[in-house]
Amino acid sequence: MIIVMKNTAGQAALDAVEARVQAEGLETRVLPGEHKTVIAVIGTRPPELLQQLERMPHVEATIPISEPFKLAARTDSRERSVIQVGDVEIGNGAVTVMAGPCTVESPEQMAATAEHVAAAGAQLLRGGAYKPRSSPYSFQGMGVRGLELLAEAREATGLPVITEVLDPRQVEVVAEHADVMQIGTRNAQNYPLLREVGGCGRPALLKRGMGNTIDEWLMCAEYIMAAGNPDVMLCERGIRTFETSSRFTLDLNAIPLLRRRTHLPIVVDPSQGTGHWYMVQSMALASVAAGADGIIVFWEVFRDMLHNPLTDEWNTTFLTAWEKMHEAGLLEGVPVAEASH
Ligand code: PEP
Ligand code: MN
Repeated sequence: MIIVMKNTAGQAALDAVEARVQAEGLETRVLPGEHKTVIAVIGTRPPELLQQLERMPHVEATIPISEPFKLAARTDSRERSVIQVGDVEIGNGAVTVMAGPCTVESPEQMAATAEHVAAAGAQLLRGGAYKPRSSPYSFQGMGVRGLELLAEAREATGLPVITEVLDPRQVEVVAEHADVMQIGTRNAQNYPLLREVGGCGRPALLKRGMGNTIDEWLMCAEYIMAAGNPDVMLCERGIRTFETSSRFTLDLNAIPLLRRRTHLPIVVDPSQGTGHWYMVQSMALASVAAGADGIIVFWEVFRDMLHNPLTDEWNTTFLTAWEKMHEAGLLEGVPVAEASH
Protein backbone atom coordinates (compact mmCIF):
# COMPACT_ATOMS: atom_id res chain seq x y z
CA MET A 1 0.00 0.00 0.00
CA ILE A 2 1.04 3.58 -0.64
CA ILE A 3 -0.12 6.40 1.62
CA VAL A 4 -0.23 9.81 -0.07
CA MET A 5 0.09 12.69 2.42
CA LYS A 6 -1.46 16.14 1.84
CA ASN A 7 1.00 18.96 1.18
CA THR A 8 -0.06 20.39 4.54
CA ALA A 9 1.51 17.40 6.31
CA GLY A 10 4.33 18.27 8.67
CA GLN A 11 6.74 15.97 10.50
CA ALA A 12 4.27 15.29 13.34
CA ALA A 13 1.61 14.03 10.89
CA LEU A 14 4.14 11.80 9.14
CA ASP A 15 5.31 10.38 12.47
CA ALA A 16 1.72 9.67 13.55
CA VAL A 17 0.93 7.80 10.34
CA GLU A 18 4.15 5.77 10.50
CA ALA A 19 3.47 4.87 14.13
CA ARG A 20 -0.07 3.71 13.27
CA VAL A 21 1.22 1.49 10.45
CA GLN A 22 4.11 0.11 12.51
CA ALA A 23 1.66 -0.79 15.30
CA GLU A 24 0.28 -3.40 12.84
CA GLY A 25 3.76 -4.92 12.57
CA LEU A 26 4.34 -3.43 9.10
CA GLU A 27 7.40 -1.63 7.76
CA THR A 28 7.33 1.92 6.37
CA ARG A 29 9.53 3.92 3.97
CA VAL A 30 9.00 7.65 3.69
CA LEU A 31 9.53 9.00 0.16
CA PRO A 32 9.60 12.81 0.14
CA GLY A 33 8.56 14.40 -3.18
CA GLU A 34 8.68 17.90 -4.59
CA HIS A 35 5.06 18.65 -3.64
CA LYS A 36 3.82 15.70 -1.63
CA THR A 37 5.32 13.03 0.55
CA VAL A 38 4.25 9.40 0.19
CA ILE A 39 4.77 6.54 2.62
CA ALA A 40 5.27 3.04 1.21
CA VAL A 41 4.02 0.22 3.45
CA ILE A 42 5.61 -3.22 3.27
CA GLY A 43 3.82 -6.33 4.58
CA THR A 44 0.31 -7.80 4.70
CA ARG A 45 -2.16 -5.30 6.10
CA PRO A 46 -5.55 -5.92 7.68
CA PRO A 47 -8.31 -4.92 5.19
CA GLU A 48 -9.67 -2.18 7.49
CA LEU A 49 -6.34 -0.31 7.68
CA LEU A 50 -6.83 1.60 4.41
CA GLN A 51 -9.95 3.37 5.63
CA GLN A 52 -8.59 3.90 9.13
CA LEU A 53 -5.54 5.68 7.70
CA GLU A 54 -7.68 7.83 5.41
CA ARG A 55 -9.41 9.22 8.48
CA MET A 56 -6.09 10.42 9.97
CA PRO A 57 -5.14 14.13 9.73
CA HIS A 58 -3.17 15.19 6.62
CA VAL A 59 -3.67 11.87 4.80
CA GLU A 60 -4.90 12.48 1.25
CA ALA A 61 -5.35 8.93 -0.06
CA THR A 62 -4.30 5.32 0.32
CA ILE A 63 -3.55 3.17 -2.70
CA PRO A 64 -3.61 -0.63 -2.39
CA ILE A 65 -0.93 -2.34 -4.46
CA SER A 66 -1.69 -6.05 -4.12
CA GLU A 67 -5.09 -7.76 -4.51
CA PRO A 68 -7.19 -8.21 -1.35
CA PHE A 69 -7.96 -11.80 -2.40
CA LYS A 70 -4.62 -13.35 -1.45
CA LEU A 71 -5.35 -16.98 -2.32
CA ALA A 72 -7.24 -16.38 -5.57
CA ALA A 73 -4.89 -13.72 -6.95
CA ARG A 74 -2.68 -14.37 -9.90
CA THR A 75 0.91 -13.53 -9.08
CA ASP A 76 3.94 -13.56 -11.35
CA SER A 77 5.20 -16.77 -9.79
CA ARG A 78 1.88 -18.64 -9.81
CA GLU A 79 0.85 -20.95 -12.68
CA ARG A 80 -2.85 -21.04 -13.58
CA SER A 81 -4.60 -23.72 -11.51
CA VAL A 82 -5.64 -27.06 -12.91
CA ILE A 83 -8.47 -28.77 -11.06
CA GLN A 84 -8.72 -32.53 -11.07
CA VAL A 85 -12.20 -34.08 -11.05
CA GLY A 86 -11.92 -37.84 -11.51
CA ASP A 87 -9.92 -38.21 -14.72
CA VAL A 88 -10.85 -34.74 -15.96
CA GLU A 89 -8.44 -31.83 -15.65
CA ILE A 90 -10.10 -28.42 -15.78
CA GLY A 91 -7.83 -25.58 -16.81
CA ASN A 92 -5.15 -27.70 -18.49
CA GLY A 93 -5.42 -25.82 -21.79
CA ALA A 94 -8.20 -27.93 -23.34
CA VAL A 95 -11.88 -26.98 -23.12
CA THR A 96 -13.94 -28.92 -20.60
CA VAL A 97 -17.62 -29.38 -21.42
CA MET A 98 -20.18 -29.94 -18.66
CA ALA A 99 -23.64 -30.69 -20.01
CA GLY A 100 -26.97 -31.97 -18.82
CA PRO A 101 -30.51 -30.97 -17.98
CA CYS A 102 -31.43 -27.89 -16.00
CA THR A 103 -33.24 -30.11 -13.51
CA VAL A 104 -33.18 -33.79 -12.61
CA GLU A 105 -36.79 -34.77 -13.28
CA SER A 106 -37.09 -38.57 -13.43
CA PRO A 107 -34.99 -41.76 -13.66
CA GLU A 108 -35.85 -42.10 -17.37
CA GLN A 109 -34.92 -38.52 -18.18
CA MET A 110 -31.62 -38.70 -16.30
CA ALA A 111 -30.57 -42.05 -17.76
CA ALA A 112 -31.38 -40.97 -21.34
CA THR A 113 -29.72 -37.58 -21.00
CA ALA A 114 -26.59 -38.98 -19.37
CA GLU A 115 -26.21 -41.47 -22.20
CA HIS A 116 -26.49 -38.73 -24.84
CA VAL A 117 -24.14 -36.40 -23.03
CA ALA A 118 -21.53 -39.13 -22.61
CA ALA A 119 -21.86 -40.28 -26.24
CA ALA A 120 -21.39 -36.71 -27.40
CA GLY A 121 -18.11 -36.50 -25.49
CA ALA A 122 -18.92 -34.14 -22.61
CA GLN A 123 -16.59 -34.65 -19.66
CA LEU A 124 -18.98 -33.82 -16.81
CA LEU A 125 -22.71 -34.30 -16.30
CA ARG A 126 -24.74 -31.44 -14.84
CA GLY A 127 -28.26 -31.46 -13.38
CA GLY A 128 -30.05 -29.69 -10.55
CA ALA A 129 -31.47 -31.69 -7.66
CA TYR A 130 -32.09 -28.58 -5.55
CA LYS A 131 -33.45 -25.74 -7.67
CA PRO A 132 -33.48 -22.07 -6.67
CA ARG A 133 -36.85 -21.14 -8.19
CA SER A 134 -38.24 -17.61 -8.34
CA SER A 135 -41.62 -18.85 -7.16
CA PRO A 136 -42.10 -20.99 -4.04
CA TYR A 137 -44.92 -22.75 -5.93
CA SER A 138 -42.64 -23.94 -8.75
CA PHE A 139 -41.08 -27.39 -8.73
CA GLN A 140 -38.15 -27.18 -6.27
CA GLY A 141 -36.21 -30.20 -7.51
CA MET A 142 -36.13 -33.86 -6.47
CA GLY A 143 -33.71 -33.31 -3.58
CA VAL A 144 -31.88 -36.38 -2.29
CA ARG A 145 -33.64 -38.62 -4.83
CA GLY A 146 -32.28 -36.34 -7.57
CA LEU A 147 -28.77 -36.69 -6.11
CA GLU A 148 -29.15 -40.47 -6.18
CA LEU A 149 -30.20 -40.35 -9.85
CA LEU A 150 -27.11 -38.27 -10.62
CA ALA A 151 -24.92 -40.79 -8.81
CA GLU A 152 -26.56 -43.62 -10.78
CA ALA A 153 -25.91 -41.73 -14.02
CA ARG A 154 -22.24 -41.43 -13.03
CA GLU A 155 -22.16 -45.15 -12.38
CA ALA A 156 -23.66 -45.86 -15.81
CA THR A 157 -21.52 -43.44 -17.84
CA GLY A 158 -18.37 -42.84 -15.81
CA LEU A 159 -18.94 -39.08 -16.00
CA PRO A 160 -18.33 -37.08 -12.82
CA VAL A 161 -21.38 -35.04 -11.80
CA ILE A 162 -21.82 -31.39 -10.86
CA THR A 163 -24.90 -30.17 -9.03
CA GLU A 164 -26.05 -27.10 -7.12
CA VAL A 165 -26.05 -26.81 -3.34
CA LEU A 166 -28.46 -24.19 -2.02
CA ASP A 167 -28.14 -24.37 1.72
CA PRO A 168 -25.28 -24.99 4.19
CA ARG A 169 -27.42 -27.81 5.65
CA GLN A 170 -27.30 -29.63 2.28
CA VAL A 171 -23.53 -29.50 1.85
CA GLU A 172 -22.87 -32.87 3.46
CA VAL A 173 -25.43 -34.84 1.44
CA VAL A 174 -24.54 -33.09 -1.83
CA ALA A 175 -20.82 -33.78 -1.25
CA GLU A 176 -21.66 -37.46 -0.60
CA HIS A 177 -23.26 -37.80 -4.05
CA ALA A 178 -21.63 -35.22 -6.33
CA ASP A 179 -18.11 -34.63 -7.61
CA VAL A 180 -18.34 -30.84 -7.96
CA MET A 181 -20.35 -28.47 -5.76
CA GLN A 182 -22.10 -25.75 -7.77
CA ILE A 183 -22.92 -22.48 -6.03
CA GLY A 184 -25.58 -20.60 -7.97
CA THR A 185 -25.86 -16.93 -8.80
CA ARG A 186 -28.48 -16.34 -6.10
CA ASN A 187 -26.18 -17.75 -3.43
CA ALA A 188 -22.91 -16.31 -4.67
CA GLN A 189 -22.59 -14.10 -1.59
CA ASN A 190 -24.07 -16.50 0.93
CA TYR A 191 -20.96 -16.45 3.10
CA PRO A 192 -21.97 -19.26 5.49
CA LEU A 193 -22.61 -21.48 2.45
CA LEU A 194 -19.27 -20.50 0.88
CA ARG A 195 -17.46 -21.39 4.12
CA GLU A 196 -19.25 -24.71 4.42
CA VAL A 197 -18.37 -25.63 0.82
CA GLY A 198 -14.81 -24.57 1.61
CA GLY A 199 -14.65 -27.33 4.19
CA CYS A 200 -16.37 -30.13 2.28
CA GLY A 201 -13.39 -31.62 0.43
CA ARG A 202 -14.92 -31.35 -3.07
CA PRO A 203 -14.06 -28.90 -5.86
CA ALA A 204 -16.49 -26.00 -6.23
CA LEU A 205 -17.86 -24.09 -9.19
CA LEU A 206 -18.79 -20.58 -8.07
CA LYS A 207 -21.23 -18.80 -10.34
CA ARG A 208 -21.05 -15.03 -10.53
CA GLY A 209 -23.76 -13.26 -8.56
CA MET A 210 -25.98 -11.56 -11.16
CA GLY A 211 -25.39 -8.23 -9.41
CA ASN A 212 -21.76 -8.74 -8.44
CA THR A 213 -18.69 -6.93 -9.68
CA ILE A 214 -15.65 -8.99 -10.54
CA ASP A 215 -13.94 -7.82 -7.34
CA GLU A 216 -16.89 -8.96 -5.21
CA TRP A 217 -16.95 -12.29 -7.03
CA LEU A 218 -13.24 -12.87 -6.43
CA MET A 219 -13.72 -12.15 -2.72
CA CYS A 220 -16.45 -14.83 -2.69
CA ALA A 221 -13.97 -17.29 -4.19
CA GLU A 222 -11.55 -16.21 -1.47
CA TYR A 223 -14.13 -17.24 1.17
CA ILE A 224 -14.16 -20.80 -0.16
CA MET A 225 -10.38 -20.92 -0.46
CA ALA A 226 -9.80 -19.38 2.98
CA ALA A 227 -11.97 -22.16 4.44
CA GLY A 228 -9.49 -24.72 3.10
CA ASN A 229 -10.64 -25.54 -0.43
CA PRO A 230 -8.12 -24.56 -3.14
CA ASP A 231 -10.18 -26.13 -5.95
CA VAL A 232 -12.47 -23.33 -7.04
CA MET A 233 -13.68 -22.63 -10.59
CA LEU A 234 -15.32 -19.33 -11.49
CA CYS A 235 -18.37 -19.41 -13.74
CA GLU A 236 -19.59 -16.36 -15.66
CA ARG A 237 -23.34 -16.77 -16.17
CA GLY A 238 -24.58 -13.31 -17.07
CA ILE A 239 -25.32 -10.21 -15.06
CA ARG A 240 -28.38 -7.96 -14.73
CA THR A 241 -28.28 -4.88 -16.93
CA PHE A 242 -30.90 -2.57 -18.46
CA GLU A 243 -31.12 -4.91 -21.45
CA THR A 244 -34.25 -7.06 -21.40
CA SER A 245 -34.10 -8.82 -24.78
CA SER A 246 -31.88 -11.57 -23.37
CA ARG A 247 -32.45 -13.06 -19.93
CA PHE A 248 -29.07 -11.79 -18.66
CA THR A 249 -26.11 -10.03 -20.24
CA LEU A 250 -23.25 -12.51 -20.58
CA ASP A 251 -20.18 -10.54 -19.56
CA LEU A 252 -17.44 -11.96 -21.75
CA ASN A 253 -15.12 -9.13 -20.65
CA ALA A 254 -14.84 -11.12 -17.46
CA ILE A 255 -12.78 -13.82 -19.16
CA PRO A 256 -9.64 -11.82 -20.09
CA LEU A 257 -10.04 -9.81 -16.88
CA LEU A 258 -10.10 -12.92 -14.72
CA ARG A 259 -7.22 -14.50 -16.60
CA ARG A 260 -5.15 -11.49 -15.65
CA ARG A 261 -6.23 -11.27 -12.01
CA THR A 262 -6.69 -14.86 -10.83
CA HIS A 263 -5.13 -18.27 -11.38
CA LEU A 264 -8.50 -20.04 -11.01
CA PRO A 265 -10.08 -21.84 -14.02
CA ILE A 266 -12.86 -19.95 -15.81
CA VAL A 267 -16.08 -21.58 -16.98
CA VAL A 268 -18.94 -19.91 -18.89
CA ASP A 269 -22.65 -20.80 -18.81
CA PRO A 270 -24.13 -19.58 -22.10
CA SER A 271 -27.52 -21.17 -21.32
CA GLN A 272 -28.26 -19.15 -18.18
CA GLY A 273 -26.32 -16.21 -19.58
CA THR A 274 -28.60 -15.72 -22.59
CA GLY A 275 -31.83 -17.54 -21.86
CA HIS A 276 -32.30 -18.24 -25.57
CA TRP A 277 -31.33 -21.45 -27.31
CA TYR A 278 -30.29 -19.67 -30.50
CA MET A 279 -27.67 -17.59 -28.66
CA VAL A 280 -25.99 -20.52 -26.94
CA GLN A 281 -23.96 -21.55 -29.95
CA SER A 282 -22.35 -18.17 -30.62
CA MET A 283 -21.80 -17.36 -26.96
CA ALA A 284 -20.18 -20.75 -26.30
CA LEU A 285 -17.83 -20.20 -29.23
CA ALA A 286 -17.11 -16.64 -28.16
CA SER A 287 -16.33 -17.81 -24.62
CA VAL A 288 -13.84 -20.37 -25.83
CA ALA A 289 -12.29 -17.85 -28.21
CA ALA A 290 -11.94 -15.40 -25.31
CA GLY A 291 -10.05 -17.95 -23.21
CA ALA A 292 -12.62 -19.85 -21.14
CA ASP A 293 -11.39 -23.17 -19.71
CA GLY A 294 -14.82 -24.75 -19.81
CA ILE A 295 -18.46 -24.46 -20.80
CA ILE A 296 -21.42 -25.56 -18.68
CA VAL A 297 -24.53 -25.92 -20.76
CA PHE A 298 -28.09 -27.19 -20.72
CA TRP A 299 -28.61 -30.35 -22.69
CA GLU A 300 -32.18 -31.54 -22.63
CA VAL A 301 -32.93 -34.70 -24.58
CA PHE A 302 -35.94 -35.99 -22.75
CA ARG A 303 -38.11 -33.03 -22.04
CA ASP A 304 -41.42 -33.02 -23.78
CA MET A 305 -42.24 -29.36 -23.69
CA LEU A 306 -45.96 -29.91 -24.24
CA HIS A 307 -46.56 -32.72 -21.78
CA ASN A 308 -43.73 -32.41 -19.31
CA PRO A 309 -42.98 -28.72 -18.84
CA LEU A 310 -41.57 -29.21 -15.36
CA THR A 311 -38.97 -26.47 -15.52
CA ASP A 312 -38.35 -23.40 -17.67
CA GLU A 313 -40.35 -22.69 -20.78
CA TRP A 314 -37.15 -22.21 -22.72
CA ASN A 315 -34.75 -24.87 -23.81
CA THR A 316 -31.31 -24.87 -25.31
CA THR A 317 -29.23 -27.18 -27.37
CA PHE A 318 -25.51 -27.17 -27.66
CA LEU A 319 -24.93 -29.58 -30.49
CA THR A 320 -24.37 -27.02 -33.24
CA ALA A 321 -21.97 -25.05 -31.07
CA TRP A 322 -20.13 -28.21 -30.32
CA GLU A 323 -19.83 -29.12 -34.01
CA LYS A 324 -18.52 -25.64 -34.75
CA MET A 325 -15.98 -25.87 -31.97
CA HIS A 326 -14.75 -29.11 -33.45
CA GLU A 327 -14.60 -27.54 -36.91
CA ALA A 328 -12.57 -24.71 -35.45
CA GLY A 329 -10.24 -27.22 -33.76
CA LEU A 330 -11.12 -25.91 -30.31
CA LEU A 331 -11.97 -29.24 -28.71
CA GLU A 332 -8.81 -31.18 -29.36
CA GLY A 333 -9.11 -34.69 -27.97
CA VAL A 334 -12.87 -34.46 -27.44
CA PRO A 335 -14.92 -36.77 -29.69
CA VAL A 336 -17.28 -35.23 -32.24
CA ALA A 337 -20.88 -34.98 -31.03
CA GLU A 338 -23.50 -37.31 -32.43
CA ALA A 339 -26.71 -35.76 -33.68
CA SER A 340 -28.79 -37.00 -30.77
CA HIS A 341 -32.14 -35.36 -31.35
C1 PEP B 1 -28.26 -23.70 -12.96
O1 PEP B 1 -27.16 -23.81 -13.52
O2 PEP B 1 -29.11 -24.59 -12.94
C2 PEP B 1 -28.60 -22.40 -12.34
C3 PEP B 1 -29.70 -22.26 -11.60
O3 PEP B 1 -27.70 -21.44 -12.62
P1 PEP B 1 -27.60 -19.92 -12.11
O4 PEP B 1 -27.30 -20.00 -10.65
O5 PEP B 1 -26.47 -19.39 -12.93
O6 PEP B 1 -28.91 -19.25 -12.42
MN1 MN C 1 -33.61 -23.17 -14.74
